[in-house]
Amino acid sequence: MTENCLPKITNSFCYKVRQIDRPQEILFQMFKRFEERAVIITSGQLTGMIIIHMAHENGIPFRVCTVDTLRLFPETYTFLQQVEARYGIQIERIKPDLKQVDRMISQHGEFLFFDSKDKQEYCCHIRKVEPLERLLTDIDVWFSGLRRDQSGNRSRTPKAQIIEKKGRSILKINPLFDWTEKQVRDFIKEHDIPINPLLLSKVNGQSYESLGCIICTTPTLPGESRRSGRWRWQNTQVEDNKKECGLHFSI
Ligand code: SF4
Repeated sequence: MTENCLPKITNSFCYKVRQIDRPQEILFQMFKRFEERAVIITSGQLTGMIIIHMAHENGIPFRVCTVDTLRLFPETYTFLQQVEARYGIQIERIKPDLKQVDRMISQHGEFLFFDSKDKQEYCCHIRKVEPLERLLTDIDVWFSGLRRDQSGNRSRTPKAQIIEKKGRSILKINPLFDWTEKQVRDFIKEHDIPINPLLLSKVNGQSYESLGCIICTTPTLPGESRRSGRWRWQNTQVEDNKKECGLHFSI
């Protein structure tokens, strides 16, 4: 599809998308109009899996990408393959630039993220943000699984918003922005949607609520916030609500 045929990403187009009630209908209309220039970007967690399932049910082709930091859990890599088999799709792995990774490691060491918040953000930038930004230069619509109840920092997540990247407008859509954790779990159960086994396991009363890179993600105890398991060594300095890796730079 040539870019000239596509709807322009403007405030009025964003407004129209916000008026569409059903997430399934938003997915259908965007993939029908934008084809491969619309992308579900997911790490395969609960909400992302629901979005993949809904897109699949629509019966038209859809594109899915994941940012592979090269540091994900083995269970996550296996799970992504299972999702591909279940839905008959190929999930594109967007990877960091290895030269940049090598330079970062030779300058700051492999475990730089333990040193400071700045170095953690630098590592997240090289392994997550830069690959995502590369992808964003070539798409118009980004489907994300952000929800308002995931953290205080995400409490104002809109259904749709325009983000500007390198002079281009991209429509970021969070189709399940107002779903509760219960709605998510009920929908997954009702539709038998696959779940990363790490999100189901419980060890000594602890469970994973939010998954990222293997070293930087730990399970949480009942009562802890869902992002307290991320970069746990920062817990005394950084509020859990502020724990973001930079992917969702304009929440
Ligand atoms: Fe680096 Fe940890 Fe961020 Fe992964 S989560 S990119 S290992 S700092």
